[in-house]
This record gives sequence, structure tokens and C-alpha cells, in this order.
Amino acid sequence: MGLSKRRTHASGATARPDGELCPRHSLHEHALGEQAAYDLISNELLLDGSARLNLATFVTTWMPRLAGELMSQTADKNMIDKDEYPQTAEIEARCVDIIAELWNAPSGGAEHATGCSTTGSSEAVMLGALALKWRWRERMRAAGKPTDKPNLVTGANVQVCWEKFCRYWDVEPRLVPMEGTRYHLDAEQAVAHCDENTIGVAAVLGSTFDGSYEPVAEIAQALDAFQQDTGIDVPLHVDAASGGFVAPFVQPQLVWDFRLPRVASINASGHKYGLVYPGVGWAIWRDDTALPRDLIFDVNYLGGHMPTFALNFSRPGSEVIAQYFMFTALGRDGYRKVQERSSAVARYLAGEIAKLGPYELISDGSDLPVFAFTLRPEIRNYTVFDVSAALRGRGWQVPAYSFPPNREDLAVLRIVVRAGMTADMADLFLRDLRDRTEVLAKLPQPIQSADAHDAAFAH
Ligand SMILES: *Cc1c(COP(=O)(O)O)cnc(C)c1O
Repeated sequence: MGLSKRRTHASGATARPDGELCPRHSLHEHALGEQAAYDLISNELLLDGSARLNLATFVTTWMPRLAGELMSQTADKNMIDKDEYPQTAEIEARCVDIIAELWNAPSGGAEHATGCSTTGSSEAVMLGALALKWRWRERMRAAGKPTDKPNLVTGANVQVCWEKFCRYWDVEPRLVPMEGTRYHLDAEQAVAHCDENTIGVAAVLGSTFDGSYEPVAEIAQALDAFQQDTGIDVPLHVDAASGGFVAPFVQPQLVWDFRLPRVASINASGHKYGLVYPGVGWAIWRDDTALPRDLIFDVNYLGGHMPTFALNFSRPGSEVIAQYFMFTALGRDGYRKVQERSSAVARYLAGEIAKLGPYELISDGSDLPVFAFTLRPEIRNYTVFDVSAALRGRGWQVPAYSFPPNREDLAVLRIVVRAGMTADMADLFLRDLRDRTEVLAKLPQPIQSADAHDAAFAH
């Protein structure tokens, strides 16, 4: 998906307002003009779903008006050009400090957290995992051991970016399968898959499959014990794409972050519960030793020396500015209120859906404001894929998908509650779900085949 092939089918042209045809897939010879182009494109985009009714995505679909204005005023700033836009660079550095503090990084002295903005968690994960791979290689070389068989341990529920990392950088993925009602990685299984070739364990704070948090503290403890027993030191990275901006506010007592010495690095998506439009993410390392020096490039750019660690070069500065805007506008209290509201709406929705009768909760929104539910086994005349399609008819986007190994038999629906999903909208959704379920209950047999839908959904 996403890779565009050259298209030659019939809809290759679009009507210009003056009735002339103008090609869609080749650069037309004559200027269309700004107004006509604007009208044409904004009309076409009406076909996209309504973002506020999209209960599928984790990505921010609502920001305050002033944030939108600030973003369009700063759309011309290039994040990499730190010499030309030193204040944008300064704002990025402040965001890193704010986030490092939010995640309880040790402050001051030799231990000083370091980090950077990225285009999202995918890039942040690549950077975090690369640092793990470099450190592992250094350790192995120092011990005079071979460095050709690195592996990485995660649950089978990880987001696809981890599998991408493994494939792009030649690391064996050790994906621990789900088992029974264990829908994510646990401490025992994590350690059971580690050996001296393990570059690290990735724990997910907020599984995309069901919104549950992996037991980061238990995994850290088990890895401490593993080191005591075997001498093998396996660092832990926390993929807190969603949870990094939820747990500090909704579950402040939960210890999952740099308070655990085993945690070397953490990533999060600014454009998920960080409350910024796409795309901004963050990667933070506990200290300089967690980020090998030879991964950092000193860029001599327009007369200035700047250390950078990134896969992209040029990218917009406006998302980073928007992140700083949200931190400044909301403060701790504002973030707490927004996330607690989402959490309350998620738990309310889950509770009401459980009461409808045919549905069974897989999770209840008590970790991320995200939950998954399935149909009771006795329901055989319609599937979760039918429910998803029926809701789509009312404009609601609620994905249905099956779980990874070893629970491929389990197909669920998932709801992501974000800022902007009010209790009022939750009630409207419940009304539609109830109505549609009653219609589906009268079906003699399922309409949708599981395969067709499963192939189309990417977490
Ligand atoms: C969304 C997500 C990612 C990928 O993040 P992007 O910001 O979309 O690149 C990685 N891991 C988890 C757990 C996620 O939820």
C-alpha cells in the first residue's frame, strides 16, 4: 500500500471548470490557475472519510484553530536548517527536555537525556533500534565474538515498523506469539527468547491490537535477573507511540519509563496522544551512553555545525512548533484533562457495548483510551467484518481485523477514542451500533468474508 503504480485506466482525466479535460496522471501543458486548482482538489477530497467519525486511527484529527494558524504560518520552515531557523531548533530542544522530564529521565550531571524529533514513531523506532544494534555490536566486538546474527525480541503484537526495522537492517525478529488470553509480551516470554545476540527487547506501551500496556516494569526486572544469571545485558526500548502521552497523565503511578534503569530509550508519536496533526514523533535516550557517538552526524550546514541523528534530511518545522504550542497552551493540567476525558469516554463506551448482548470485551479502555471487542462464539450469522461494514454506512470507521499468531482465530473490532470524541458523540455511536446490530442479527448468514477485510487493514 502507498506505493503508487502508473495508472492507465479510464479515469485518467478530470473536467476543468471550463469544461476542458485536464489530465490527472500527467503534468498538463497549461496552467489551470490557483482558484480552479483549489476548487478541483478540495472537491475531490470531500470523498475522504470524515475525520471526526474515524474511530480507527490513533492520529490527531482535531487541534485548536490557533494551532492550525501557527502551522500554516510556519509551513516554510525546514527543521534540518538549524542555522537558518535557530529558534525552531531551540523549540525542538525544549520539547525534548519537556518530554524527557515527563518520562522521568535522570536529570543533571553526566546523566543527561538526549533526543530528537522525527517524522513519527516509525522513524523514532528505527533510530532507537539502530542505537541498540550499534551498542550490541560494540559489546560483541569487545568480547571478541561474532556480530553476524543479531536478533530483537518483541511481542507478535508489535506495530509493523519493528518488522520493517528488522528487515531493513538485517536483524532477526523474534516475535513472541500470543497465547490464549495473553495478547501481548510478558516478562517470562521476553527473557525466554533472549540470548547473547539479542540487541534489545522492545516493550509496547499501548498495543495497537487492544490498547493494552505491556508489563514494562516486570520485563525490566526479568531482564535484570537474566543479567545476574547469565551476564548478558539486554537493554529495553519502550515503544510508547501512544502511551507516552497517556500514561504520565492517566496512570501517573505506573512505572514504565526512565525510572527503570533498564530502559535505554523511548519513542512516542507527537501526532497521536501528543495531540498534534501528522507528522511528528520523538525519540529520547536515557543518556549519551545509550546513543553511540558514531551514529551522530556533524552536519556542516550553511556555516554552522549541528549534530543530527535522523533518517530524513529536510522536513517541516511546523509540526515541532505545533507540539510546543500544545505543551504551552495546555500544560500538565490541560493534557491530564484531555486524556482523562478520552479515557472516561473509552471506558463508558466499552461498558455500554458489553451490555448490548452479542459483544464480548477483549480490553476495556483502562490502559490506552482504546479497546477491542469481539462477537460471542454463539453468534454465527454475522461477523465483526459485517458490523464494521454496517457502521461504515453511517459514516463511522471502526476497523475489524484478526489477531496475529497464535490467535489468528480471534477477529475483533477496535475503537480508538481521541480528543474530540465527546460523550455526546459516544451516545450517537452507541445508538447506531445498537440499530445496526439488530439488523445484522436477522441475517441468515454472514455477508463479508474475513479475508477481504483483513488484507486491507494496517494498524
Ligand atoms: C502508531 C504506532 C507506531 C508507528 O508510529 P507512526 O507515528 O505512525 O510512525 C509504532 N508503534 C506503535 C505502538 C504505534 O501505535
